Amino acid sequence: SGSNDNAIPADLPLRNDLLGEEPYGAPQLDVPVCLNVNENPYPPTHAVVRSIEKRVREAAKDLNRYPDREHMELRQAFVDYLAKESGAKLTTDMVWGANGSNEIMLQLFQAFGGPGRTALGCDPTYSMYPEYARDTFTQWRIVPRKEDFTLDLDRTLEAIRDLEPAMVLLTSPNNPTGTPLPMEQLERILEACQDARVAGAAEGTRPVVVVDEAYIEFRDPGVPSATTLVGTYGNLAVSRTMSKAFAFAGARVGYLAASAGIIDCMRIVRMPYHLSAVTQAAALAGFDNTAEQLSQVAHLRETRNETAAWLREQTYRGIPLQVAPSQSNFLMFGGHFDDRGLIFDEMLKRGVLIRVVGPEGWLRVCMGTDEEMKVFRKALTESLRAAE
Ligand code: PMP
Repeated sequence: SGSNDNAIPADLPLRNDLLGEEPYGAPQLDVPVCLNVNENPYPPTHAVVRSIEKRVREAAKDLNRYPDREHMELRQAFVDYLAKESGAKLTTDMVWGANGSNEIMLQLFQAFGGPGRTALGCDPTYSMYPEYARDTFTQWRIVPRKEDFTLDLDRTLEAIRDLEPAMVLLTSPNNPTGTPLPMEQLERILEACQDARVAGAAEGTRPVVVVDEAYIEFRDPGVPSATTLVGTYGNLAVSRTMSKAFAFAGARVGYLAASAGIIDCMRIVRMPYHLSAVTQAAALAGFDNTAEQLSQVAHLRETRNETAAWLREQTYRGIPLQVAPSQSNFLMFGGHFDDRGLIFDEMLKRGVLIRVVGPEGWLRVCMGTDEEMKVFRKALTESLRAAE
């Protein structure tokens, strides 16, 4: 697994724009402490596992039939959860599920991107966005973030005016930096999009603003979610996932909160029966036990805050490490690692897998169990000295 060897036979007519491309993905290495792909380190609780067994057993009896294409029971569960978690007032025609938020994002690009269309993002950000753009023949354009990784609002508004994108992609908290997007900035962008134009689309259309909230449950209490604005803005689409807070990455369940109009666009591009009956059953089991399932989120938030404080006390070549303020379950740290690959390798030697991602000089680590974080601290202390 994890091999990126590109041995595509020369006589296969792979699309011209895909020649030389490699499959995307972090290495899946067999390492004792894996802190590289922002998973939840705590597995689903016994209660959730029991619910999955029960619901999947029921679903198994009907596997000769196609599943509910509209996954209505699950959509009701999304509505109920978002009401409880974020105070969002939604109805089942305003939510939509797919195989991970990866598929949600791809469906958004399939519906609103395409030849002649532009999608705008704010770099550094999630490295899959340019791939969705490539796969849907959408032009990918970026506005750099500020030095502290917050959004450069002026330049973003300028780019919306100049580039006339069909989609504006915002990530809150952002990956790999952990930076939240303040609601005031989001509202400024939404307002600017009300009278923005979309190149390659009919007169009178306006950009769709996508907020990727994959890690939103890890934000500090009281911080609002963009899902509360979905009822106000018909062009706002907020993507969520069960992969992180729900510890459900292996189940592949993501979902979208948006206007009924946007959901109808999703229904045009989705594969028929894209969400299997087994997936729907497992997801419902996750929502059966929300409180228990999410009990580790608060602890991971504490782990993040403690780890950030500890990292700021460490030094490399006599200079304290920087830590990007994070509202997520991961931290981007360093800032002055002149050879970050070296530190990554030293960590790997000590059985800890982190991630080389983001701007030069930085590394990213996601929060593990208490035990794993102890190993991480010891390994990093040694690795920093070894790499100096
Ligand atoms: N958005 C962001 C910002 C992510 O970091 C990830 C996962 N790494 C995803 C979306 C996709 O997650 P999933 O498909 O598991 O929901």
